[in-house]
Amino acid sequence: MNLLPGHPTPLPAILDQSPEALRAWFAERGQPALRVKQVRRWVLAGRAESFEQMSDLPRDVRAELAQQFSPLGTRIERHLIATDETHKLLLRLHDDRMIECVLIQEAPRRTACISTQVGCGMGCVFCASGLNGVVRNLTASEILEQLARLRNLTPAPDGRLTNVVVMGMGEPLANLDNLIEALEVAGHKDGLGIGARHITISTVGLPAKIRRLADLGKQYHLAVSLHAPNDLLRTRIVPTNDKTGIADILAAADDFFEKTGRQVTYEYVLLGGLNDSPREARELATLLQGRKAHVNLIPFNDVEGLPYTRPTPEALKRAGMSVKVRKRKGSEIDAACGQLRRKVEQEVASAV
Ligand code: SF4
Repeated sequence: MNLLPGHPTPLPAILDQSPEALRAWFAERGQPALRVKQVRRWVLAGRAESFEQMSDLPRDVRAELAQQFSPLGTRIERHLIATDETHKLLLRLHDDRMIECVLIQEAPRRTACISTQVGCGMGCVFCASGLNGVVRNLTASEILEQLARLRNLTPAPDGRLTNVVVMGMGEPLANLDNLIEALEVAGHKDGLGIGARHITISTVGLPAKIRRLADLGKQYHLAVSLHAPNDLLRTRIVPTNDKTGIADILAAADDFFEKTGRQVTYEYVLLGGLNDSPREARELATLLQGRKAHVNLIPFNDVEGLPYTRPTPEALKRAGMSVKVRKRKGSEIDAACGQLRRKVEQEVASAV
């Protein structure tokens, strides 16, 4: 473990303990199994960030919990707030790694954008998160905790998250088991009460995992990051495309639509001079023709050190497609995924 000087060794997070292990811990102290539910409910639904706040637990039990566990396993390293009320949290994990998550507020929606991995192995050329590869998968509790932390930024006592987009750092389908475990808990009434229909899972397109997700029979919304209408160009932008190819990804997305009835969204980051010409627009329109699909155009967020620019979306609009250009939220707070983490890591590296 590589802790910074001055940072004490963190206590294990309560959400990382399995219900069985916690039940045993309470039983050793003569406490009923009900305590497990109480503690988890306090953290997930009750906004508690200390055991002291858990007022329906005996005082001595709260004190002992505080000596052995932490209610939340992450620490807030940076908290940035944009003028449009977008919040970005840089969270430090128990092993000193860092991840980002974002709260986007557009009334009546409050959307959490969360990460699933430290870094990312997909290597999309425009993305700060993938610049240094993938370090590790997040645990289910680390994923869940981002949601709890972002929900805690909404007004108490009733503020809640209305939507979740799994579009932060990492490829969500490369960490599917932990993600699903976290989202199941988030959807529970004792959790954060966010149903599958309000959750969007974004992927570069891992066909086998898309099919597994479809087989779960849940109503998650799937967003496939396409970024190019042919394999040659897509492999330049999303290098893992050389192993999958667009045809396989679209076939898996079609299966997802058939099994779940949920329309798939195709994400397209506009990179000036690379994938934004009328020719690509026509090719994209032909590629998706006949599919009940939606295209989201995403203006490229400038990333320091990368050579790409942000074009206008007019070319794709002229091709007559159903398109939506996503608004840029929180642009002044390093909103592109992975930028803040990279900046802070560089600051730390240059300070030692
Ligand atoms: S865009 Fe997403 S999948 Fe691609 S490198 Fe970045 S985090 Fe990974």
